[in-house]
Amino acid sequence: MLEGLMQNDYQLTLKHVLDRMRGQCADGEVATLRDDGITRASYGDVAERVDRLCKALEQLGVKEGDRVATFMWNSQEHLELYMTPCMGIVLHMLNIRLFPEQLTYIANHAQDKVIFVDDSLVPLLEKVAPTFETVEHFVIVGDGDAGSLPNTLRYEDLLAEQEPGRYEYPELDERTAAGLCYTSGTTGNPKGVLYSHRSNMLHSLGMGLADTLGIKASDRVLPVVPMFHVNAWGIPYACAMVGADLVMPGKFLQGEPLAKLIEDEKVTVAGAVPTIWMDLLRVADEKQPDLSSLDTVMCGGAAVPESLMRAFEERHGVMIVQGWGMTETSPIGAVARPPAGLEGEDHWAYRRMTGRIVPLVEVRLMGDDGEVPWDGESTGEVEIRGPWIASDYYEDPSGADKFHDGWLRTGDIATMDSRGFMQITDRAKDLIKSGGEWISSVELENALMAHPDVLEAAVIAKPDERWTERPLACVVCKEGAKPSAEDLRKHLEPLVAKWWLPDEYAFIEAVPKTSVGKFDKKVLRGQLADGALETEGTAAAQPAS
Ligand code: AMP
Repeated sequence: MLEGLMQNDYQLTLKHVLDRMRGQCADGEVATLRDDGITRASYGDVAERVDRLCKALEQLGVKEGDRVATFMWNSQEHLELYMTPCMGIVLHMLNIRLFPEQLTYIANHAQDKVIFVDDSLVPLLEKVAPTFETVEHFVIVGDGDAGSLPNTLRYEDLLAEQEPGRYEYPELDERTAAGLCYTSGTTGNPKGVLYSHRSNMLHSLGMGLADTLGIKASDRVLPVVPMFHVNAWGIPYACAMVGADLVMPGKFLQGEPLAKLIEDEKVTVAGAVPTIWMDLLRVADEKQPDLSSLDTVMCGGAAVPESLMRAFEERHGVMIVQGWGMTETSPIGAVARPPAGLEGEDHWAYRRMTGRIVPLVEVRLMGDDGEVPWDGESTGEVEIRGPWIASDYYEDPSGADKFHDGWLRTGDIATMDSRGFMQITDRAKDLIKSGGEWISSVELENALMAHPDVLEAAVIAKPDERWTERPLACVVCKEGAKPSAEDLRKHLEPLVAKWWLPDEYAFIEAVPKTSVGKFDKKVLRGQLADGALETEGTAAAQPAS
C-alpha cells in the first residue's frame, strides 16, 4: 500500500478549539442577555475562565471520564462549561424540559457527579434533586437563591478562588467522550448519545460549510436552540472554532426579546425550531424590528412550513433555511439549499424539502425488501452513518435495534431524489413533536386506557401552525360509557406534563388495525386530513416553547 504523507497529524480534540479561543480568536466576543442587560466577554477571557473552571473541578475531586452536568440556558458560563471536556470529563447537558422522572433517570444513569444550575432554574431542579444518587455538588450560576439544593457552591466563587495560569490539560485520544445528551425521541427511557472530541470537531467543520450554516469568523451567531438540545446543534463549538461571535439569549426565548437582540446585536446567523420563528414572525409583523443583519436563519428539528419561510422572506427580507438532524446525528444531516438557477415554484419546490444530505454523511433508504432507489418517489426508512453519527446508545441495550450493520435507523420515512434531496413523508417512531420536544403517543395511550370508561385509545399528531404538532386522542369508550373530553383531560392531568395534554379528542367506534392487529394510525391520520374525524376540544394545553 502506498501511504499518504500526512503523518504530522494530531488528535482532533476540543483543546484545539480552546487554544484558538485564547490565541488567534481571542478577540471574538460572547454576549449574553441577562435580567439586567447584556454582558460581554472576549474568547480570550472565556478561555482564561475555562482554565480556572477546570482547576476548580479538579479540586472538587472530578477525574477524567467523570460526568459533569449542566441544567442551564444558553450563556457565556454554559460555553465555558462546554470547554471543560478538554480536561477529560464528559459534559452532560440535562434537558430542562424533561419530566421529573426522566430527569431522575438520566442524572442517575449518567452518574453525574456535579451539576451546574442557573439560579433561575433552581426551583425546577430542587424538586428532583433528592432523587439524584451520585451528585456530590450543585454549583449555582448567578446570585439567586440556592433553594433547598444540598451541597451548593457558587460558580463565581469557585473561579475566583483559583490561581491564575494555565490548567495542565491531558493529551486525550480524539475518540474520548466529550459530551452526553439524552434523547426522548425513542420509546422507553431516554437514551444517551455520547459525542466524542473527534465527532464534535468534524461536525463543527461541517457547520462551517457554505452549503450548511456557513459559519465564519465575521459572523455574529445567535443559537436560540438550547445548549441542552443536541449541543445547540453544535453552534457553540463551530463558532468558537472559527472565532465567530456568539450572542446568547439566556432564558429570553420569546419573540419580543429575540427581535430586539437580533436588532441590537446585529446578529447574522441564528438557529431555532419553527415554533420560535413563528413567534418572532408575529413580533416582526407587529413591530417591524430591523432584522436586516440576518443572513441565514437555520430552522429545523421539525418540518418547517413553507408559509413561514415565505412570510419571512417576502415581508422581512430574511431567508430561512430548513435543516434536518437528530440528537443521534450531532445533529447536522441535511440542509435544504436549492440548486442554482431555479426561480419561483421550482426554487420553492426545493426550499420546502427536508434537506440535501451534507458531505461526510451517508444515507440509504430502506424498504421492506432492502434498499429503495433515489427516484424522488419511493419511500423507505432513512438510515445514516458518518463520523458524527452515533453507533450506539450509552449503556442501554434496549435501544440496540436502532443500530444495525453500521447504520443508524432514524425512524424517519422519506423519499430521496438523485441529487440527495430528502423529503420526510412519515415517521416510523410513534411520537409527536410539539414545540421542538417529544410527546410519547404510547404513554398517553396507556394513561388514557387506565381510565375506567376507556376501552382503547390511539394518539396521533395533529398538524398545528404554532407548535408544528399537537396530540389528538382517538378514544373508544366501553359499552354504555360516555366520558367527555374534559373528563379525560382531568384524568390525564396528574399523570403527564401539562403540555402533553391533548387539546382535542375524537370519540370513535374502533381503532383501525393492521393485518397483524396493531393500531393503524395511517388510517386515523388519513381520516383527520379528510375531515372525517369529529373532535371535541378541551381547555387549551400549553406546550413547551
Ligand atoms: P431530536 O433528536 O429531538 O432532535 O429529533 C430528531 C427528529 O426530529 C428527526 O428524526 C425527525 O423526526 C424530526 N425532524 C428534525 N428535523 C426535521 C425536519 N426538518 N423536518 C421534519 N422532521 C424533522
